[in-house]
Amino acid sequence: MAQLSAVEKLFTVIDNTSMILVEELSCTYLEAVAETGENLFQNTILQEEVSEISKKRIEKEYSQVNLKQYSAEEIRKAYQLAALKGMKEATQPNHEMTPDAVSIFVGYLVSKFTEGWKGFSIFDPAVGTGNLLTTVLNQNQSKEIEASAIDVDDLLVKVAYVSANLQQHSIQFYNQDSLQPLYIDPVDVIVCDLPVGYYPNDIGAANFELHAKEGHSYAHHLFIEQSLKYTKEGGYLFFLVPNHLFTSEYAKELNAFLKEKSVIQGMIQLPLSLFKNENAAKSIFVIQKKGPEVKAPKQALLVNLPKFSNQTAMAGIIKQIDDWFKQEKHEIKL
Ligand code: SAM
Repeated sequence: MAQLSAVEKLFTVIDNTSMILVEELSCTYLEAVAETGENLFQNTILQEEVSEISKKRIEKEYSQVNLKQYSAEEIRKAYQLAALKGMKEATQPNHEMTPDAVSIFVGYLVSKFTEGWKGFSIFDPAVGTGNLLTTVLNQNQSKEIEASAIDVDDLLVKVAYVSANLQQHSIQFYNQDSLQPLYIDPVDVIVCDLPVGYYPNDIGAANFELHAKEGHSYAHHLFIEQSLKYTKEGGYLFFLVPNHLFTSEYAKELNAFLKEKSVIQGMIQLPLSLFKNENAAKSIFVIQKKGPEVKAPKQALLVNLPKFSNQTAMAGIIKQIDDWFKQEKHEIKL
């Protein structure tokens, strides 16, 4: 049999022990992934209900890996593979994990926009499993970063904080509705794979300029407004948005709001092949909150990404993006 890679080896340990915990705790696979991740982090088996025989099997699995020999990226990949398997079992479309290739690309954009900064604060108001946020952190390890994150789903917050612990990232997590008042100071950078759809809380929505005049408001519009509220002047926001953002209902109001509060830095359309259907396709939308020193780029960065597997085309795009940065020279340092 071919040798397993380090990531495969760690995934196998997480997978095997999660399956044992599913039986022992009568829980879902995703819950078991968080439990086994916490065990690996604490270096002990925390669940008292586990039988002696299963404990021995789990210990034997854990003894096969030494986390100290793993990089944060290897740990993230193995753990997220298991989380992905768990989410396939029971997830709603809006809770889907941000795919690896997309997260890596957002991480690259964050590193380009923050080039020359010593450090920054970052916030993901819809952190889910933490895949997007921790990928961005792993891509910006040379900088001092203060990170915070929110999700309304308590299980996902657990999955995310265990992932952050295993990768040795210190992230402040909150389990709450991000469209309520937040305990977060304004940050330099926001990353968010926006939950797309209606926000059921009409009373809460009424506090936003972008609320619908009738019926439920779009959660993704409110998330953009809330994110701008919690960004410092001159800070950058990187959103994964549906491609229909500027053609659907209330697009005019959204446009006017964005014009007043921000400058548009770029819109990068992701390859359609990443999505189940064209309606679900997304782009990376980059804006900067207005401030005294903020200047709009002469021309926004507008790119259609090829398939990530097409290396030649990708290299061409990266060159185009590098050239854009050279021309626009982002000189603002927060
Ligand atoms: N970037 C995440 C990842 O890598 O796993 C995926 C984010 S997923 C597309 C959107 C997330 O928004 C879901 O985890 C969902 O629970 C969360 N969400 C939806 N409505 C929310 C709200 N009002 N407040 C906070 N989180 C919310």
